[in-house]
Amino acid sequence: MGGAARLIVLGSGTAVPRADRATSCYLVDDGEGTVLLVDCGPGALHRAAAAGYPLPALDAVLLTHIHPDHCADLVALQFALRSPLGAPRPRPLVVYGHESVGLLVARLRNAWPEWLAPGPDRFELRAVEPGPVSLPGRTAAPAFRVAHHASSLGWCLTLPDGFTLAFSGDATEGADLEALGREADLFVLEAAVPAEAAVPGHLDPARSGRVAAACRARHLLLTHFYPEVLEQPIAALARQGFEGRLTLAQDGLVVPLTH
Ligand SMILES: [Zn+2]
Ligand SMILES: [Zn+2]
Repeated sequence: MGGAARLIVLGSGTAVPRADRATSCYLVDDGEGTVLLVDCGPGALHRAAAAGYPLPALDAVLLTHIHPDHCADLVALQFALRSPLGAPRPRPLVVYGHESVGLLVARLRNAWPEWLAPGPDRFELRAVEPGPVSLPGRTAAPAFRVAHHASSLGWCLTLPDGFTLAFSGDATEGADLEALGREADLFVLEAAVPAEAAVPGHLDPARSGRVAAACRARHLLLTHFYPEVLEQPIAALARQGFEGRLTLAQDGLVVPLTH
């Protein structure tokens, strides 16, 4: 924690369990002591702890949408925050997401009335609409509409030194996605499926490359790989449209967030 700003890929995988790729979760350490998770798929909190960021180190969770591979650790999170065991948190952990996250959390608490619902001194939920969002620390974060699910939000973080990184969550191309990734220093973009096995609501590597090129993103980090797309030459396909810096996500990858 602290030091240089960095992104750690905690989960580059999908709903399909794999030994080498956990479900969606990315950790952003702003280098000034504020730590954010973007998405919180099942197992994310343990992955964060393994990367050196146990629960007390986390300040906020930014959710891209309510599909379980992006937010199921909301159960583990609330349960852990209720526990009198483990290190106490110095401040509430804030979860940001579309207003339907509130309904989801209410339903989860209904399912586990005795085990979830940490107090307001430990857990805070903030409903977000596209537009500016106030986060802990000095990172600015407008949320963007993204075409995938009614609850979808893309996040574009601007770190204190001006570095911008955008997270698509699950997405399809269009003006919304291009607005999200426009001239991003780092664009974390899904390339979930092969073109030959297209799934509505998802991108394939070639289309992701074209989106990043249209955005003029400087560095493209492709992620959220279903097993089928891993059989493909992902980088070569993305390169058909995108000429900037290109990285394929792996769990544990650390990306310095500097110009
Ligand atoms: Zn989804
Ligand atoms: Zn997904």
